[in-house]
Amino acid sequence: ACLQGRVLRVQGLVSEVEAPDKSVYQCATRRLLKTMSTDVRHVVAAGDHVWFRPSGEREGIIESVGPRYGVLSRTSRGRQHVIVANVDQLIIVSSAGEPGLKPNLIDRYLVTAESAGIRPIICINKVDLVDPVQLQTIVGVYGGMGYDVHLVSAIEETGIDRLRQSLIGKDTVLSGQSGVGKSSLLNAIEPGLNLRVNAVSRENDKGKHTTTTATLIPLATEGHVIDTPGIRQFQLWDIIPEEVAGLFRDIRPLVNHCRFPNCTHTHEADCAVKDAVADGILDTRRYESYCQIHAGDAA
Ligand code: GDP
Ligand code: ZN
Repeated sequence: ACLQGRVLRVQGLVSEVEAPDKSVYQCATRRLLKTMSTDVRHVVAAGDHVWFRPSGEREGIIESVGPRYGVLSRTSRGRQHVIVANVDQLIIVSSAGEPGLKPNLIDRYLVTAESAGIRPIICINKVDLVDPVQLQTIVGVYGGMGYDVHLVSAIEETGIDRLRQSLIGKDTVLSGQSGVGKSSLLNAIEPGLNLRVNAVSRENDKGKHTTTTATLIPLATEGHVIDTPGIRQFQLWDIIPEEVAGLFRDIRPLVNHCRFPNCTHTHEADCAVKDAVADGILDTRRYESYCQIHAGDAA
């Protein structure tokens, strides 16, 4: 009989699959499944829901792969590679100080999440370093667009309970530039979780495996934290300039009111987006972010 499972990670031709009872099986992929794809290595991806047939103590064969949602992928040499599938949410970790808040970086991660259909959660760490009044504007801008904003301090453990709640039963990718406190937050959320994430990353650093492999790390509660080595500070990829406005929640509703249907909202006359900025309806900084991302400028 087949079991339903979840691919925790893919190592070459072997997938580690988590069974419903949480035991882990080393699974090969059935030949039939391989022939469906031109590249065997990409038939199965981390995060996939699969059916597998146990074939030994803790071994099995993957018979089929379920439909994917919330896919983080990357294009290289014209081919799309799935990094991880079935991601529920992306926590965008930023810090209020040391390093200082970078709202434009938050905007880039938001665009990535919106594009992939993954729910973004904004988490501003190190609030102990600033006067909360300084964060009012940013919380207002993002909260007003309907995004969840968490103000937390890993060190003082403020806001951690609520953040922990948001992970239960979900598969979550943590992103953010180095030094913002991702490891500290994982530690505060669940003791040992950060150790498990690091254990996986170290293995990759040694060059034991040639590719960077995304790994689902089970939480003590239902759900997983997903370690994506090398893309914790990921760049925008696969997003063409014409798509950007549609991925900005505050710009999207305006674009149909521009005079030109192909308006880029940068230099055109009678642009509803530029009018909204002039009228104070659209946040100027958000508009500047849009222009940078549209132009393909680096962060
Ligand atoms: P990562 O690179 O994103 O994983 O960041 P780390 O968790 O390694 O944290 C980077 C630095 O920020 C460390 O020196 C932490 O002690 C410090 N840090 C983390 N969280 C907080 C916080 O809430 N407040 C303050 N003041 N410092 C923090
Ligand atoms: Zn326009």
